[in-house]
Order: sequence, then structure tokens, then C-alpha cells
Amino acid sequence: MRLRDELQLLAEASERAAQYLSGLHERPVFPSAESVAGLTAFDEGLPEHSSDPADTLRLLDRSGSPATTSSNGPRYYGFVIGASLPAAAAAERLIASWDQCASSYVNSPAAATIESVAARWLLEILDLPSESAVGFGTSASACGLSCLAAARRHLLVRTGWDLDRAGLAGAPEIRVVVSDLAHVTISKALRILGFGERDQTVVPTDRHGRLDPDQLPKLDDRTILCLQAGEVNTGEFDPFEPLIERARAAGAWVHVDGAFGLWARASPTHRYLTHGVEGADSWTTDGHKWLNTPYDGAVAICRDVEALSTALDSSAVYLPADPRAQRNLTLEFSRRPRGIPIWAALRSLGRTGVAELVEGNCQHAKRLSEGLASAGVEILNGVVLNQVLCTLPDPSDVAALLERVQSAGRIWFGPSRWRGRPAFRLSVSSWRTTDDDIDLAIAEIRRQLRD
Ligand SMILES: *Cc1c(COP(=O)(O)O)cnc(C)c1O
Repeated sequence: MRLRDELQLLAEASERAAQYLSGLHERPVFPSAESVAGLTAFDEGLPEHSSDPADTLRLLDRSGSPATTSSNGPRYYGFVIGASLPAAAAAERLIASWDQCASSYVNSPAAATIESVAARWLLEILDLPSESAVGFGTSASACGLSCLAAARRHLLVRTGWDLDRAGLAGAPEIRVVVSDLAHVTISKALRILGFGERDQTVVPTDRHGRLDPDQLPKLDDRTILCLQAGEVNTGEFDPFEPLIERARAAGAWVHVDGAFGLWARASPTHRYLTHGVEGADSWTTDGHKWLNTPYDGAVAICRDVEALSTALDSSAVYLPADPRAQRNLTLEFSRRPRGIPIWAALRSLGRTGVAELVEGNCQHAKRLSEGLASAGVEILNGVVLNQVLCTLPDPSDVAALLERVQSAGRIWFGPSRWRGRPAFRLSVSSWRTTDDDIDLAIAEIRRQLRD
């Protein structure tokens, strides 16, 4: 392919991307059955020969675009997804042309430099210890795994156990303390690391979904305590200050899963929810959820740089060890510079812009919960953040409501369960959502309940 044709193809891709975005407000929030059926167009055999690249782009747009969920739009309230901020999405398009491997400075001075600025800004806006290491991983899942690997290695090495040489067999026992509402990806990380259920103490939560300090078992210097900033159903926070104080006094390691909730720290009005979280040892948060960067991008933050960089060290003979090189701070060896869309989001919003994003979504969640309550919906959480957890007076009606709302296609949210009861949850996490969108959501649920 000649350069001229390549440029023309990229221009066509940009044109099609623009078309998609301009239709985002009108399209159904979940694709129609017809659009989903159109996905059979991809059911082809592996091509034997080359073809015109433009033909591949056109198939992707013609049959793929209509079958997407409008999670980048203003009326999608499912899971905790978040849209893409313009600056982050634009940076993403440019760096696709760069195609940099962001594993270390020699691979890409541009990526390493910009990501190190993003790292510094993240620590500032989240107000976490400035000496911390920041690894840009794919997800809170991967970053949580990284932090927990660092925690375990650090605790074992401190007992004198040479984990890298001796492995786990016969190693001193490390215990993990988690709440009964820890995110499933924490359980997954623990399982991958070889922690069984027997190695874990599960602590009950209070009625808001916060770990109850009175139920905390005795901690020691061979314990990893996993806490949560932003529970997926309620958006609640564990009471960090008393818990972390006890953990530190015992010499335990504290890890905080803050996939979306840690961003409450960027808001002067919601920061109180995270009081004391800065005392932990490691934290994870996503860019792709509440910061509204495109998928995928997250960070592993670890107060002790060496703990993370030795656990994840991937220095090869041809690559001298560098505790700040990204390949030693994430699971990936080669990767795209996923810290750059995070940098772009922070640069374009600034401190006040991020605070407005967080506070705006929280205000929308309040407005939504008040409107739904007046429509006869039972609100199950305190709505301290951006999550609204609901049920109906007769919980067996929840499934039918979901079915009606989802098939109408004006808004989308999914089912949940709370303390054994059928529930549904709306997460307000898009920069695009306005008061009008919230009012439309209330009206839509009211209408579907009445009809
Ligand atoms: C989404 C989420 C995760 C997992 O994050 P991914 O980026 O999807 O891997 C972990 N914890 C909480 C509380 C979450 O909301």
C-alpha cells in the first residue's frame, strides 16, 4: 500500500468515527435485534489472500458500529463504564499512529516522559504519597494483581524468605483479610496468586456495605488487608482511618481497590469519603471508568517503589534494571502508552475540571435517586457517590422492568442483587450526561412502571 492510500484510509476511518459520534445521541442505547443479527457478516473463514484494507474498515463500520452499545453516550447507566473525554479520545487516535512500545525510556522517550508526567499528576490529584511508583496497566484487575503480588513478596522477604529463589512451597503463611463485598477481581487476583479460601478471612460489612472495624480480626506483619474505595453497588467506602491505623500498627500491608471511587479524592465535596486512605501501601484505580479515558487504562500505585519493581521485575540481560521503567511496574513487557490518554484527560480538565466531572455525576445520581423515589422505586443505598441502587416494592417485578426499559432502548442499566434481593443499579459516570438525560431516565422508568 502506498502512503497516499494509507492516508486516505486513515481519513476515511476518522470520517466514519465522526459519523458514529454524531449519531451517538440518537441511536438506541443497546443495539436492536436486527443490528445484532447483522454481526453474522463477520462469520467468514480466514481469508486466503490479501484484500483492499478499505474493505475491512467498511465491514467493521457497516456491521460493527450498529451493534455497539452506546456506552460512550449520555444515557448509558450500566455497570461503571464512563464515556471518552474528547482530549483523551483524540490523543488515543494520534498515538495509534505513533505505535510506541512504552516499556522503557529507550523504547520511547516520548512515551516515558509523558507517562512520568501523568504519574506525577495522578499522585497530586489523588493526593497520594509523592514517592510512590505508578505503573500504567490495562485494568484495575491487572493492577490489583500487581499490587497484591508486591504485597506478598514484600511481606515474605521481610520475614527473611527468599521468594524468588525458594518459591512458595514451605514459605511462611501470609493471610489476606477482605470484606464480604470485595470486588470479584480481587478474589480472582488472590486465586491467581495462589491464595486459597483457607488463606482468607472474610469480614462482614455494615448495612451500607462498609467493612466493620469491630469485626476486624487480629492483624500482624504477615497480613494483607484489602480495602475498598467505592463499592460497585452502593458506591460506599470502607472507614479507612481506623482500619489503616490498626493495620499499620500491626505491620500489615494495606491495599485499596479504588477502581472508580478513588476519584472522589479529586472533589473537595466528596473527598471526606476517602479520609485516611493515603495511609495505605498500595492503591489501584482506572482511567477508563470515572476519568472517562478510552479503554483500556488503569494504574497500580505503590508507596514502596522497590516492592512493586522487584515483584514485577523483567530486566533482561540486555536491559539493565530500572525501578522506574514501566516494564518493571506492570504485568506487560511490551505495551502501548496507555498513560498518554490519562495525561490528556488530566491536562484538558485540570484540577477543577476533574472535580466538576465527579461532582456533576454525583449530583446527577442524587437527582436520579430523588426522582425515582417519587416514582415509587425503593432506593437501597445512601447515594453518597455516583451509584444508585434500587429495587421495587415487589422485588419480583424487577426483571420485568429491566426487560421493558432495555427493549425500549432509551436508557440502559443492568440487574444486581443486594443482600439476596433482586435489585437494579444505575451508575452515572459519563461526562456527557446532563440534567435533561437524568430527567429522561426518571420519566422513562416512571412510564415503564405505569404501563
Ligand atoms: C470495575 C472494578 C474493578 C475491576 O476493574 P477493571 O478495570 O474492569 O479490571 C475492580 N474493583 C472495582 C470496585 C470495580 O468497580
